[in-house]
Amino acid sequence: MTFSLKFLTSFKNWLLGLFNKSWLLSAFPQKKKTQLKLPAPYPETDENLPKQYQNHPCPNYMDLKMRFRDVGRMNAIIEALGRDFLTAMPEGAYKSRLGQISFLARRMHEDLAAQDVASLIERAHTHERKCPSDWDEWDSANLHEMEVMYRHHCKVSPDLMEKRAHLSYEGRRRHRDVLKTNDWNAAQGFLQEMIDLQRTIAESKCLRDNNHKTEAPYQALMREYMPGARLEEIDKLFGDFKEKLDHLLPRVLEQQKQQAEPIEIEGPFPADLQLNLNKSLLKVLGFDFNRGGLYETGHNPVEGGTPDDTRLVIKTSNTANFLNSLKSALHEGGHGLYIQGLPRDQWRYQPVGQDLGAAVQESQALLIDMIIGRMPEFFNYLSPRVEGLFQRLGDEAFSAQNLYNTKTRVQAGLLRREADEITYFYHVNMRQSLERDLIAGRLAVKDLPDAWNAEVKKFTGKEPTNYAEGCLQDVHWFVGKFGYFPSYSLGHMMAAQIFKAMKRDIQNIPELIQAGNFKPVLDWLGTNIHSKGRMFRTQALLEDVTGSRLSATPLINHLEDRYLAAA
Ligand SMILES: [Zn+2]
Repeated sequence: MTFSLKFLTSFKNWLLGLFNKSWLLSAFPQKKKTQLKLPAPYPETDENLPKQYQNHPCPNYMDLKMRFRDVGRMNAIIEALGRDFLTAMPEGAYKSRLGQISFLARRMHEDLAAQDVASLIERAHTHERKCPSDWDEWDSANLHEMEVMYRHHCKVSPDLMEKRAHLSYEGRRRHRDVLKTNDWNAAQGFLQEMIDLQRTIAESKCLRDNNHKTEAPYQALMREYMPGARLEEIDKLFGDFKEKLDHLLPRVLEQQKQQAEPIEIEGPFPADLQLNLNKSLLKVLGFDFNRGGLYETGHNPVEGGTPDDTRLVIKTSNTANFLNSLKSALHEGGHGLYIQGLPRDQWRYQPVGQDLGAAVQESQALLIDMIIGRMPEFFNYLSPRVEGLFQRLGDEAFSAQNLYNTKTRVQAGLLRREADEITYFYHVNMRQSLERDLIAGRLAVKDLPDAWNAEVKKFTGKEPTNYAEGCLQDVHWFVGKFGYFPSYSLGHMMAAQIFKAMKRDIQNIPELIQAGNFKPVLDWLGTNIHSKGRMFRTQALLEDVTGSRLSATPLINHLEDRYLAAA
């Protein structure tokens, strides 16, 4: 069949005319400009609305609040998918789940780094300057944090952010596998790809100071985990601390020689009983299981989640030893209590309602895991319960004294996660030094195992016999967390400083812990730290709560009290 050119032309014109008819267009309505709408069913009066939705005289700030709410929602979806990835996801969903997570990370980034976000922030700042009485301290802090988040994203391309999300979840899987296979070649290829990516991201984020000097890429990476942290300050803090620790450690070891070795606590300890114990302890600590849970995974533990869905993930229990899973549950529990205590009612999803970053996060985890969770009174509380649970009534190994001696035994070992409270710092310090060299290109990935072994030998006198107890033991580099390690030691220092302030306000903490009554402790942390979100910056919060900026002295005092007290 053939059509004449004239017929085809008139048919085309008829078709185009059809598309201009309103009845056809009405079938495909044009997208209307989104109007800000308050969600039902909130009460009608504005004061009863959460602060997130309360009207603000600055329309640009209102617009920003709704945009950041949606960014926060996307982040919460990523967190939920991530929990599922680690716990319940069937193996066959692996690749599609990676695609979903990295797609969402890209969308979130694009919404955050949009050009009009910058102009909205600028106009909101102008309003804040002109009408300061319209801005309370929460709104001002929220606007400030919006800008911090925008700056953090705006220089990095969506492609890089998508790749970062993809590699970080792929890295969890890779790490789990290389731990089993001890396959350095497979690890090396992946780590190289991850380091190249991190370096590219760091270089696009580097800031310049007033003298046009560009900061070190490592510092740019660290800023994501510890806003405001400066490398020079950390070097000074760590340098001074190490000097004191180098002096303290031999004294502790000398004193320890006079004490009998702890009685070995022998298993087996069924995994389901360990999980029940850990869940019960979290409940006693005040963790809200209505908004969270404790799950086990074949991967390494992970912090995170949101205040409404705080699913803690720890490594599957080792039946030979219950104290390791218990330590892990206390540590992740400390993170979880912080997350659940954030100001979600008023500021859910807003930047000001989030935690203060890795160092403060670790302070809350280490306060529970290392400081409170290793008090003699904690073991007085624990001992009869584990004796009963594991049916070891009257077993000396389960006495409070032996549990305490076991957990406070100082002995430099190869594994960071099993390190005692004193030698923990050496693990963190060597990792931050190695990762700085990796990012700066001073250390090639292929030379990492040798460099690692040389460093670890300096303070343990031992060398790893496989990669799982050597340079592959931590998940951090596999998920792209370069710049995170310093937060453990900063967090430990903060925890000791915060605990000192808590003891000033609550005089009977040992008695409370012995009775299993953590409520006053959690209430204090909630009021002073958790519920503040990001209203203060880290140093300002510490000054407000403890009376001074971050200092290593309270941690040194705490270590001396605990480990040299009997001298
Ligand atoms: Zn942690």
